[in-house]
Amino acid sequence: MRAGRLIVVSAPSGVGKSTVCQRLRDRHAELAISVSFTTRCPRGRERDGVEYHFVEEATFDRMIAAGAFLEWADVHGARYGTAREDVERLLADGKDVLFDIDVQGGRQIKSARPDALLVFLLPPSVEEWVRRLRGRATETPDEIERRLRAGVQELEAGRRYDRLVVNGDLDSTIEELEDLCCGEDRSGPAAHTALLDGLLFEARRMLS
Ligand code: ADP
Ligand code: 5GP
Repeated sequence: MRAGRLIVVSAPSGVGKSTVCQRLRDRHAELAISVSFTTRCPRGRERDGVEYHFVEEATFDRMIAAGAFLEWADVHGARYGTAREDVERLLADGKDVLFDIDVQGGRQIKSARPDALLVFLLPPSVEEWVRRLRGRATETPDEIERRLRAGVQELEAGRRYDRLVVNGDLDSTIEELEDLCCGEDRSGPAAHTALLDGLLFEARRMLS
């Protein structure tokens, strides 16, 4: 991989963004994952400064006012943001930077840095998506339904990403992302749009 790239990975909650980003980082020393700031509370075994920087609402407000964020957004009722300074430091260290962020953040990064690569992960099916969300067991049933509903909006926004990648078999997902990061694009920008349409249809039917 060529260092100095910004790679955004977005997907509806539960599709596997964190898993894919961690796996990619484990395989590539030149890759760093941007650690976001958030106002939500830590879940499970999450540690401050590792998965996120967990901050109070007032701190987040101060950071917005100071222009500290490259992007920020309200997602599922909490605020999340990427500190501009952190990204600049990683790029200066010669790293590629991987962002596990939502579609609003992806759009903002693309406006600030048009050379950023925006990748949207799709589940292989709605059934598998729900299975992964439930299997993680970190959200209540109400929260899962909320994330599925929000996921439908996110799938729509995924149409405007540079590439769609299906997160079916994890090893294949990683290989495809590695190829994309190297500028190799075997399937092309129109790949998987029919799957995206099918997922939207099925998810809307399930939630109606
Ligand atoms: P996200 O960050 O998109 O919310 P996670 O990375 O937490 O999603 O993944 C949600 C669940 O799905 C986790 O239990 C994870 O182990 C599982 N998972 C992720 N990718 C795959 C995959 N390719 N195949 C099977 N399970 C997966
Ligand atoms: P979670 O609470 O499940 O960790 O993340 C919820 C959502 O917030 C996910 O879609 C995740 O990608 C997104 N997210 C995490 N950090 C950021 C960030 O810094 N900016 C934006 N815009 N979204 C983020």
